[in-house]
Amino acid sequence: MPLSKAPMITVEEALAAVKRVKVASRAESVPLPIALGRVLARDLVSRIAMPPFDKSAMDGYAVNSRDASESFRIVGLIPAGGVPSKAIRNGECAKIMTGGMLPRGADLVVRRELALEDGGHVRFTGRDDGPNICPKGEDVKPGDIVLRKGALLRPQEIGILASMGAAEVDVFERPAVGIIATGSEIVAPGKRLLPGRIHDSNSFSLAAQAESCGAAVRMRRRAADAPESIRRVVSSALETCRLVLISGGVSAGDFDYVPEVLRDLGVRIGFEQIAVQPGKPTVFGTRGGTIVFGMPGNPVSTFVIFEVFVKPILYRMMGRAYEPLAVSGTLTRALLRRRTERAAFVPVRVSGDRVERPEYHGSAHLQALAEANGLVYIPSGSEGHPEGSRVDVRLF
Ligand code: AMP
Ligand code: MG
Repeated sequence: MPLSKAPMITVEEALAAVKRVKVASRAESVPLPIALGRVLARDLVSRIAMPPFDKSAMDGYAVNSRDASESFRIVGLIPAGGVPSKAIRNGECAKIMTGGMLPRGADLVVRRELALEDGGHVRFTGRDDGPNICPKGEDVKPGDIVLRKGALLRPQEIGILASMGAAEVDVFERPAVGIIATGSEIVAPGKRLLPGRIHDSNSFSLAAQAESCGAAVRMRRRAADAPESIRRVVSSALETCRLVLISGGVSAGDFDYVPEVLRDLGVRIGFEQIAVQPGKPTVFGTRGGTIVFGMPGNPVSTFVIFEVFVKPILYRMMGRAYEPLAVSGTLTRALLRRRTERAAFVPVRVSGDRVERPEYHGSAHLQALAEANGLVYIPSGSEGHPEGSRVDVRLF
């Protein structure tokens, strides 16, 4: 009978142990249209100036600011994309569109709304404070580092890459992730629930968590609570994936075989108990360059353990430094507990300054997470946070 005698380590120790593990991130080149959510593998150095020429910021008339003429003869029409053919001299202007290249001799654009045009001439009823020009290289100069290695490519970074002329971009490879849900009671969604059975939600929620970080889920399998069954799928995941996430079978029950199977398969165990709630019997280990987490099967436990312990290492495998996003707010109800040996992560909902506790029956209560958008931390030894106190919420 498996019985865990492993020492229990603190949340901080567990995070440090995860942090110590070396991970290699490989780069690959991908076409820009599919680079969203990927992480830049090298600094992006601009070869061009942005804007590439002195550019009008308005639809209007390009003139020389020292020209005190009453009326200006319109000597050219410059659309965006056009190249002005003549220089502007005293008493002259060129009609210019937003994005148009400023003609020589001009250093100011008077916007259309301040102009009265009549028969090839224009008079101005006023002037703006600024010149309405975006000078060449104002935003970026050749040689500038525009984006740093490790940058997450969000829509704005995709736009920047395109503006720099990058059709392909060097990003880190998406780590291959294998997900295994163990338990003789779990059945695939879509299958009928016989007595005693429940649907497997963990393999789906874990896959979705990994994918929303940008990882590539290579395999998602279920295994019965039998050493051979677990061994077969875990062994194949260890061969093909860089991160293996296993749910269930890590506690001290009669059918919890995951830790012993991992040892049999040559996984070096880093820790197998964290003083945290939920998620105490979490197992962490490595085999070669592959990282393995075994998490307790209650769905809130798997979710929280992924958020807190898996995400940092997964992002590191992707070349991205990760800091969880936190906001602070005021608790509308007390968040207190009696037993204080373990640290706790409690699902909460933050909106504006209010931090509310959704109904939460414990680590099996997956619906509580649908109501929640973050976690509040209670350190070990602390009874929690009284009503009205300020708390930090780690958003997910
Ligand atoms: P275990 O960690 O294997 O002891 O499982 C703890 C609880 O989580 C049990 O009530 C299981 O039925 C449940 N559970 C285990 N695996 C899953 C899963 N893949 N999806 C949903 N619930 C699960
Ligand atoms: Mg189980």
